[in-house]
Amino acid sequence: MASNCLFCKIAAGEIPSTTVYSDDDLYAFRDIKAAAPQHILLIPRKHIESVSHLEEVDATVMGRLMVTARRIAEQEGFAEDGFRCVINTGTDGGQTVGHLHLHLLAGRHLTWPPG
Ligand code: AMP
Ligand code: ZN
Repeated sequence: MASNCLFCKIAAGEIPSTTVYSDDDLYAFRDIKAAAPQHILLIPRKHIESVSHLEEVDATVMGRLMVTARRIAEQEGFAEDGFRCVINTGTDGGQTVGHLHLHLLAGRHLTWPPG
């Protein structure tokens, strides 16, 4: 755990969040400022700053992260209608929190490309 990381603190329960999914390696919660009718953030509990910081040792947890996105989509009832998975990375990618997170967006037709 990185002591000064917002999402490490959320995963540890030190800062409140609305849990959507939780296991030993992953944690999912509702985004505080929803950009779609359904907006869930899915994170590895391990502090990984961004996709730019991934190492081979992280491959398993990142694979599980994707499979869990599918599981949450089914659990939340938007798997059939569709959804979008986004991982903003670095400054130009629009990343504002330095702990890797997957945005799961759903509930309406999402335009492409993003602005
Ligand atoms: P990004 O801009 O890709 O780094 O996404 C960071 C996301 O974290 C944004 O969508 C924020 O709304 C969300 N966020 C920031 N603080 C919190 C919080 N305390 N609880 C839930 N979501 C948060
Ligand atoms: Zn962290």
